[in-house]
Amino acid sequence: MGTWPNQHDSELFDLLGREVQRQNTSLQLIASENFASPAVLAVASSVLTNKYAEGYPGRRYYGGNQVVDEVEMLAIERAKSLFGAEHANVQPHAGAIANMAAYMAMLELGDTVLAMRLDQGGHLTHGSPVNASSKLYRFVAYGLTPATSDGAGERIDMDQVADIARRERPKLIVAGATAYSRIIDPAPFREIADAVGARFMFDAAHVAGLVAGGAHPDPVPHADVVTFTTHKTLRGPRSGVILSTAELAGAIDKAVIPGLQGGPLEHIVAAKAVAFREAATPEFRDYAAGVVANARALADGLASGGLRIVSGGTDNHLVLVDLRDFDPDLTGREAQEVLERSGIVCNRNQIPGDPRSPFVTSGIRMGSAAQTTAGMGASEMGKVASLVVEALRKRDRPEAIDEVRGEVAALCAGFTPYNGEVGERGAFGITTLTG
Ligand SMILES: *Cc1c(COP(=O)(O)O)cnc(C)c1O
Repeated sequence: MGTWPNQHDSELFDLLGREVQRQNTSLQLIASENFASPAVLAVASSVLTNKYAEGYPGRRYYGGNQVVDEVEMLAIERAKSLFGAEHANVQPHAGAIANMAAYMAMLELGDTVLAMRLDQGGHLTHGSPVNASSKLYRFVAYGLTPATSDGAGERIDMDQVADIARRERPKLIVAGATAYSRIIDPAPFREIADAVGARFMFDAAHVAGLVAGGAHPDPVPHADVVTFTTHKTLRGPRSGVILSTAELAGAIDKAVIPGLQGGPLEHIVAAKAVAFREAATPEFRDYAAGVVANARALADGLASGGLRIVSGGTDNHLVLVDLRDFDPDLTGREAQEVLERSGIVCNRNQIPGDPRSPFVTSGIRMGSAAQTTAGMGASEMGKVASLVVEALRKRDRPEAIDEVRGEVAALCAGFTPYNGEVGERGAFGITTLTG
């Protein structure tokens, strides 16, 4: 047996210990985060990390891939059956790469793409001026209907989608968002795409777990391509996946490798397979329904505390809060900082028509996916909402913030995600490294 360097890397393990402590004692309300299961953590840190597997099952450049081929085929089959897709590529290292590969598979350089405005909820990879997507393709954007006092506004403006599509003749229409709290119905997008001869891609990064759990409509029957991340509501390892029609399978696979990536992360592919299996269970359906119910409880609680909820509420796992009515001087940046000091972790976010820059913003975004995994229900989310309001109201009084911090820690103590079922190091997924 070879000898390993001293395994006791206290410098690094101390940091991991601090992170476990942080996750156990503060509220994780970042809408794109979740707690992966111990099984996902363990597989993600497995010996599969040692294997080079450039290519696809049965068509690898290197030898020794018999087991890895079976691992990847299992992940592919599980992904296809979970979402009802004809083809799945489970190799993208992240959602951003999945999107770039999808574009490469369907577009020529300079082609026009119609996607959601970034300042109204769209994602960086949907044509942000600082992202490669906008340098390689010509993006045009649709937005939301105006805000109304009855909460019926701030929905994706499908008339606008149709008008812009007719005028610009995009080669591809993209649906999907990063800060939009309503169901995105794929059917009318498909109709518009068909009417103008465009392809249709659904970026399900945020809602993949809600789709898998039956809480949101499945875009797969409507879209040419569906991309998603596996670490948000789907609760798997940090990664991406592309689903497509059989017709596009070859182009998608070529775009991932050799187009954009080298060797796949087979330990992460394996962890994705674990997550797909978990997401196919009846318990996960209950989870998805719980996520939506909890987001609603959070939105209701925040609204009764005087905060304006963009679009008047939520159908998914996230809540976008407009801080301006509550206090015109309170920026998203300050709210994020005050809440973090209170043990409530969320992110500042632009709201539709935000007069402030993306770095400052007038809003915050909160999600229920992680705390639902940790076992919280609607009554806890109501409590969370009141702690948020309390912290924002008393933000100039350090002793009041300390008090909220204490209440948050007490609440979290009943809902730690990894209740002792994993050991001190197992909590990091390092189940094989017990030295
Ligand atoms: C999170 C997200 C992505 C990107 O995922 P990464 O894994 O961070 O690259 C892409 N699209 C949307 C809509 C997202 O919300």
